[in-house]
Amino acid sequence: MENRLYNFSAGPAVLPETVLQESKAAILNYDNTGIGILEMSHRSASFKKIALEAKDNLKKILSIGDDFEVLFLHGGASLQFHMLPLNIACNQKTAYINTGVWSNKAIKEAARLGSVLIAASSEDLNFSYIPSLKSDQLDNDLAYLHFTSNNTIYGTQFQSEPDSNDILLACDASSDFLSRRINMDRYGIVYAGAQKNLGPAGLGVVVIRKEWLSKSSDDLPPMLSYANHAKSESMFNTPPAFSLYVAGLVFKWILHSGGLVAMEKLNQEKSDVLYSVLDKSDFYTASVEKGSRSSMNVTFRLPAINLEDKFIAEALQAGFSGLKGHRLVGGIRASIYNAFPLQGIKDFVVFMQKFESDNLIS
Ligand SMILES: *Cc1c(COP(=O)(O)O)cnc(C)c1O
Repeated sequence: MENRLYNFSAGPAVLPETVLQESKAAILNYDNTGIGILEMSHRSASFKKIALEAKDNLKKILSIGDDFEVLFLHGGASLQFHMLPLNIACNQKTAYINTGVWSNKAIKEAARLGSVLIAASSEDLNFSYIPSLKSDQLDNDLAYLHFTSNNTIYGTQFQSEPDSNDILLACDASSDFLSRRINMDRYGIVYAGAQKNLGPAGLGVVVIRKEWLSKSSDDLPPMLSYANHAKSESMFNTPPAFSLYVAGLVFKWILHSGGLVAMEKLNQEKSDVLYSVLDKSDFYTASVEKGSRSSMNVTFRLPAINLEDKFIAEALQAGFSGLKGHRLVGGIRASIYNAFPLQGIKDFVVFMQKFESDNLIS
């Protein structure tokens, strides 16, 4: 598509071009119904089919069956910080791993409602690594162990699920959901805000073990009750319909591309290209040690802050947008979610190498 930059934005973020083209057509006239997708009743047969297909395709992608329910909710990931302990903790203790800003927000909401054990933390080194966990310290009566699988701000990522001693996991997977395979047998719930890997902002996707739906008390406010949303097939009120539609197209795109096996392989290849340039260079420094590195958000530094500003400005001139690191950590952040093309990384690396030779401090 002409005039589109390579978009390294951390979120809202790049989407597959075929999905954007199809959405564009659907805004005027969805599937020859004569009605645009933004103008269509969520109770119509057409929209019900969209929602059902999205749910089925997501289950197919995750290889899950009827043990799990899929919910499409409002409020992004952040509402889940509260909904999760409200529905699932129910007078039980919870455990959380603290890997940064988003984990902290989740911990605060859980602590508002009950007792929280911090099972591990990387706060001592400004969240620049993934802490390990001593699972023998976890009580067996915990409601769940919560972790943030990918830490968007710092560029850290769990390389595999934390060891939780049979305690079911609860995961904020906002910035790496559907980027790689996960073993759903170990999870009670996975949730994600859509705007990193799935579609437009506002939508929260929740995959929850069905047996967990009966844990909550019956008198929760209905908009905050998983059981209520499950009972009404995510149509208790008007869902974020357009976001759901686009996420449905992204699910189809993932399936057509070869599912999570293909996503994982591509994301590995993409991030390897970038990290190997960082590791070979004396000019660029990866912010995160091997073993904690994210395949979604690659963070790095240059020798001086003024060079980082120059790098970001010249990168934009060369067609690479959204590279400024989060204000809490500074530096450069290249967010390379599922839809970010390999070719964009190859071109970016050429730019990086030229920038390095032009700006070498001799
Ligand atoms: C972006 C992000 C969130 C917040 O998502 P919202 O949809 O804005 O609530 C939460 N957790 C992680 C890991 C994120 O990257």
